[in-house]
Amino acid sequence: MKEITVVGAGIVGLTTAIALQEKGFKVQLLAAQFLEKTLSHKVGAIWFPFEVHPLEKAMNWGRLAYKRYQLDAGKAPGLSMIPFTVVCDPKGENAWMKHMPENSLRKAKKEELPNNAELAYVATVPLTEPPIYLPHLLQTFQRNGGELKEWLVGDLNELALLNKWVINCTGLGAKELCKDEELLPMRGQILRTEKLDIQSCVNSTQPGALSYIIQRSTDCIIGGTDYLNDWNQSVELSDTELITNRFMAMGFSDAFPSVLEEVVGLRPRRKEVRFEFDREFTNVFHNYGHGGAGFTVAWGCALELAQEFGKRLNPS
Ligand SMILES: Cc1cc2nc3c(=O)[nH]c(=O)nc-3n(C[C@H](O)[C@H](O)[C@H](O)COP(=O)(O)OP(=O)(O)OC[C@H]3O[C@@H](n4cnc5c(N)ncnc54)[C@H](O)[C@@H]3O)c2cc1C
Repeated sequence: MKEITVVGAGIVGLTTAIALQEKGFKVQLLAAQFLEKTLSHKVGAIWFPFEVHPLEKAMNWGRLAYKRYQLDAGKAPGLSMIPFTVVCDPKGENAWMKHMPENSLRKAKKEELPNNAELAYVATVPLTEPPIYLPHLLQTFQRNGGELKEWLVGDLNELALLNKWVINCTGLGAKELCKDEELLPMRGQILRTEKLDIQSCVNSTQPGALSYIIQRSTDCIIGGTDYLNDWNQSVELSDTELITNRFMAMGFSDAFPSVLEEVVGLRPRRKEVRFEFDREFTNVFHNYGHGGAGFTVAWGCALELAQEFGKRLNPS
C-alpha cells in the first residue's frame, strides 16, 4: 500500500487525510496542534464562500464539498443542513448564487429580512459544529488505520523529507514554513452566546461591516470582523461592541443574548488558495490558504487531490 504524510490537522488536513484513505492510501497525519488548539476548532462553521479566491474555483470545490456533506448529514455527528438567510446586494453580482445546487435556494420573505436589507435569499447549507465534527473526523481517520504524530515542522526541506509524498495543510503556519508573502492573516472576532430562536443569517454586502448569526445545536455564534493583515489574537472590547451593535441593528431581537465566550481567529487568506505541487520540492503538494471558507471548500479540495493522487500513484 502506498504511503502519504499529511501535515496539519485542521479541517483541511483532516478531510485530505480521510479522502486519501478512501482512495486506498496509508496515511500518516502529523501536526503541531490538534483539535481545540487549531483555528478550525474555534469557528462557526457554516458553508458559505466568504473571502476565498478565486471564487469560480472555490465554488467548484464548494459544490463538491456540499455534496459530500449532504451524503454524510444524519450520519456524521456535528453536521446538519440548515436554512441560512444571505443578504444580497440588489445591484451586485452575487456570483455565489449561480453555483448553488438545484432547489437549495429561495427568495427570503419580508419577515426574514434583517433591518435595512432589501433583498435576501434563504439557502439550505451544511453547518458543521467543529467541537463535535472535528473529533468525529479524527476518529474516522484513526478507525481507517491512520497514524497520528504531534510534530512541529521547521522548514520546507524538513517537510519534504517526511515521506515519499507529503501534503502541506498547515493553514497560516505555511507563511513561515514556505516563506509565503501572499499568505496573510484576516483577523476575525466572534461571540459565542446562548442559543437563540433566530434563523442563521449573514450580511457581507458592505466591505468592513460583516455581520452574521450562526445558530448551532446548543449555542450561537455572532460575528464578526475581517481585518486583513492583522495578527492581533487578543479579544478587543471595541470589536465586541461593534459586533453587538451590528447584531442589534439587524432587528431580530430586543436584547443581546448572554455571551459565553469571546473568540479571535486568524483566517489564512491568500489571493488564491495554494493547491499545487511545490516547484522545488516536487514530492510536496500544497493545500492551504482557504481564507474565510475552510469548511466550505475543504472536502472539495480533499476529494480532487485524492482523485489526482489515486490516478498518478495507483495506491493499492
Ligand atoms: C472568526 C472566523 C470565522 C470563520 N467562520 C467560518 C465559517 O463559518 N465557514 C467556513 O467555511 N470557514 C470559516 N472560517 C475559516 C476557517 O476557519 C478556515 O478557513 C479554516 O479553519 C482553515 O483550516 P486549516 O485546516 O487550513 O487551518 P488550521 O485549522 O489553522 O489548521 C492548521 C494545522 O496545521 C498545523 N501546523 C501549522 N504549522 C505547522 C508546522 N510548521 N508543523 C506542523 N504542523 C503545523 C497546525 O498545528 C494545525 O493542526 C472562519 C474563520 C474565522 C477566523
